[in-house]
Amino acid sequence: MGKGRLIVISGPSGAGKGTICEELFKDENVVFSVSMTTRAPREGEVDGREYFFVTEKEFIENIENGGFLEHAQTFGNYYGTPKAAVLEQMELGRDVILDIDTKGARQVREIYPESVLIFVLPPSMEELKRRITGRGSEKEEDIKIRLGEAVHEMSLAVNYDYCIINDDLDEAVGAVKSIIAAEHHRYDEEMDAMIQRYKEEK
Ligand code: 5GP
Repeated sequence: MGKGRLIVISGPSGAGKGTICEELFKDENVVFSVSMTTRAPREGEVDGREYFFVTEKEFIENIENGGFLEHAQTFGNYYGTPKAAVLEQMELGRDVILDIDTKGARQVREIYPESVLIFVLPPSMEELKRRITGRGSEKEEDIKIRLGEAVHEMSLAVNYDYCIINDDLDEAVGAVKSIIAAEHHRYDEEMDAMIQRYKEEK
């Protein structure tokens, strides 16, 4: 069994990353990396499912213990990817999806150059505004901040390997699945080792 792939999915809030990811997780070999955050849970969010909700003190302790693959501060809160769980799942051959921002994606790419970076774009600015406002869980001031941040994030899509426009959900999910499937055939160390074995067996 091959090693799992590390897939980073970023995009402005409201681009629909979450919905795309939910579809991907219907495949048992694709798992979500549950991040740690200091932000308060939104209604319906469960500790250990969407996030591990922790205090700032706990978060900083985890940084000091080297427990994160990457971490960043967004909207005044800390977010980080717990390292051990990600590595463990990849060793088991599962593809791990990180739903993280552009700051985190840059760190992951540096530490793990084989990672696959996918950016999800909304079909239009109008639709993005509608989705952010329609969520109903944010105050007007927060919505403004998120829109400003969304524009900034989208300008960083240039650093990603792939870009998906989330207009039609099925098409977007299909595109991400194709990317993951293709990445399993990328020439890598495992392929190299296999070809070496073939040479020895000749
Ligand atoms: P939200 O608060 O809406 O759940 O997430 C806000 C932003 O933080 C989103 O862009 C999300 O992708 C990002 N995010 C979530 N978890 C992590 C993480 O572990 N690391 C980083 N760098 N960003 C994260």
